[in-house]
Amino acid sequence: MTEKTFIPLSVPNFSGKEKEYVNDAVVSEWVSTGGSLVPKFEQAIADYVKVDRAVACNSGSSGLHLSMMIAGIEKGDEVLAPTLTFIAAVNPIRYAGAEPIFIGCDDSLCISPKLVQEYLEKNAKMQQGRCINQKTGAWIKAMVVVHVFGNLADMPALMEIAKQWNLIVVEDSTEALGSYYTDGIYAGKYAGTIGDVGVYSFNGNKIITTGAGGMVVSNHADWAEHAKHLSTQAKTDELNFVHDEVGYNYRLTNLQAALGLAQLEQLEGFIDHKKEMYNFYFEKLNGKNHYKILPFRENTRSNHWFYSLFVEDSHPLHRDEIIQKLQQEKIQTRPIWALIQDQADYPKNEVYGDALAYHYLKHIVNLPCSTNLTKEDAQRVVDVLLSL
Ligand SMILES: *Cc1c(COP(=O)(O)O)cnc(C)c1O
Repeated sequence: MTEKTFIPLSVPNFSGKEKEYVNDAVVSEWVSTGGSLVPKFEQAIADYVKVDRAVACNSGSSGLHLSMMIAGIEKGDEVLAPTLTFIAAVNPIRYAGAEPIFIGCDDSLCISPKLVQEYLEKNAKMQQGRCINQKTGAWIKAMVVVHVFGNLADMPALMEIAKQWNLIVVEDSTEALGSYYTDGIYAGKYAGTIGDVGVYSFNGNKIITTGAGGMVVSNHADWAEHAKHLSTQAKTDELNFVHDEVGYNYRLTNLQAALGLAQLEQLEGFIDHKKEMYNFYFEKLNGKNHYKILPFRENTRSNHWFYSLFVEDSHPLHRDEIIQKLQQEKIQTRPIWALIQDQADYPKNEVYGDALAYHYLKHIVNLPCSTNLTKEDAQRVVDVLLSL
């Protein structure tokens, strides 16, 4: 019998022109933050998601930090944020000196518009155009929306609420490059381009990767330029090194942009593959052996980045045991994130409506979803799951 190969959760796929473009960059000796490929990659992403300007940065996390700064989030402000998410969506609120208010999810795993509205009606009032938290007196200035696993949040409802309460909307689209609405008022609009500012990530596990990297997009031209400025040490005079505020070195390198350009050429193919493999798992597992495969939102074309297996309480094994059994069979899976409200640095923050978030947290297993996953490997995953 041959040894079983390891099936990873989500790994990069370099089957395009990555080596050629990176090699060209090395040969040109433009490997650092200068060179032509960073602006080229920025324009390629801007064109892809149909915005005027995209600003490259060295991670999704730094992009989210830049977003907080260009949105004017400051010390003493409050920001609505999901509790069911990766912590990098929330920490930048703290970097800006503000505090998150944690809101639960809906069945899409994204922040629930119903809960946001309920929270605001119970706790906030409008004062001179500002949404004021009546308990703390703080200005609730913004809302961070995360499109979890590539599944679009309910943007029509969330944007209505943002309008009513005068909130800035930051879209953490780090997992959702390529997802867009196909119907409704946002038909044709990509994740990240509906609110005030959007952020993509090119970390190694994301749908396309530059090793590490990110991109900020904004519908406000001056915000995008401000992000560029802050990411490049806020320098106003190249020659004499004059800086007009506290800036950062959050730049992407030319080498990374080379990788990104090659990856972006393959993005639509990656999405097709992810959809095909999602449908495969759905057919074989949904409604079988106490499993469900969670759907993606209607009226959207999702990038299908991560697949969520939901294990019913009636299953003979606990979710964690299932993950262990798969591990023994050399299949890598993982549970969804622990809630941010339970992380070490957030015990005092307000929380509203977390019951459904806990419910999903206890039951979800993310299945292997790499863009080079084969049907044979997915069948192995299915066979193990059905044998438990
Ligand atoms: C990956 C991710 C980030 C951070 O992106 P990095 O590029 O890894 O810094 C932020 N938010 C969410 C929801 C993510 O999945």
